Amino acid sequence: MAQNTNATFTLNTGGRIPAVGLGTWQSKPSEVREAVKVALQKGYRHIDTALAYGNENEVGQGIKDSGVPREEIWITTKLDNPWHHRVEDGINSSLKSLGVDYVDLYLMHWPSSTDPENLKKHLPDWNFLKTWAEMQKLPASGRVKNIGVSNFGIRNLEKLLSDPSFKITPAVNQIELHPNCPSPKLLDYCKEKGIHCTAYSCLGSSDSPLYKDETVLKMAEAKGRTPQQILLMWGLQRGNSVIPKSVTPSRIEKNFELDGWDLTDEEMKKLSSLPDRFKVCGDAWLPIKVFFGDD
Ligand code: NAP
Repeated sequence: MAQNTNATFTLNTGGRIPAVGLGTWQSKPSEVREAVKVALQKGYRHIDTALAYGNENEVGQGIKDSGVPREEIWITTKLDNPWHHRVEDGINSSLKSLGVDYVDLYLMHWPSSTDPENLKKHLPDWNFLKTWAEMQKLPASGRVKNIGVSNFGIRNLEKLLSDPSFKITPAVNQIELHPNCPSPKLLDYCKEKGIHCTAYSCLGSSDSPLYKDETVLKMAEAKGRTPQQILLMWGLQRGNSVIPKSVTPSRIEKNFELDGWDLTDEEMKKLSSLPDRFKVCGDAWLPIKVFFGDD
């Protein structure tokens, strides 16, 4: 039976990312400090944030409040789209807000180099390949242990991996993954290239329709688990780290009850073949298209 809460996935750098983390997108600054503290005190050792979430400061305070030593915690943060041409400024801003001198994982949040003066426009003289060329310099500085990407489909990964300036394979691709967005082709591609995938919106995000899905609910009842635990176990058993978000202490605790049980092959198959397909995070709000139906 799986022991997930202290398990890690080994990255192509040798780094070990804890299998279960706490997400913080849409966690209000006033709530996230307590949520991070509670999670760490309950045993979580992985916190996912981003410059764009506007809460790095409070995430950092929650980390301090928890009393858990910094070196025991995996911190992921992300470079925001309008900062692509200012990677140094981006990482320095995140480190300052978080109150730490390094992060464990620094991700390019989206493959879109947005114009800070006009968020509907792409920068004319920049692209994500240039951003990655800059990010590749960070591990040597010690301020970032691992670099990775997020929201990269196969087409953009191919572009990145074949660019002349490409040197470092992303350690992680953080992507939307839940039973309504299982992306098997992209997972296979990343596996072949040695890129670990972290599942975001792993519960289906705010107002998740998965919380009302008959198959999920029946399985949860039969196994004496919550629907959320079923969804997280599905992600873990596919080899992905999961970062469920909650600002509710009782849910933070429940979402971490992932040891000593598992899903059978048949249960995994059932969840992977739910008929509905949707993405919570599309690309319509970006100045360029980043998803091309290649999973
Ligand atoms: P999620 O984790 O799939 O779902 C969060 C929602 O589920 C919240 O409304 C939360 O409510 C609720 N919830 C959590 N546990 C529950 C439980 N046990 N029972 C009932 N409801 C529960 O959503 P997400 O925030 O979209 O994704 C997770 C994390 O992935 C984010 O927070 C962020 O760190 C990351 N992410 C990254 C990207 C990217 O572009 N890289 C995009 C999206 C998300 P309460 O908080 O009110 O308890």
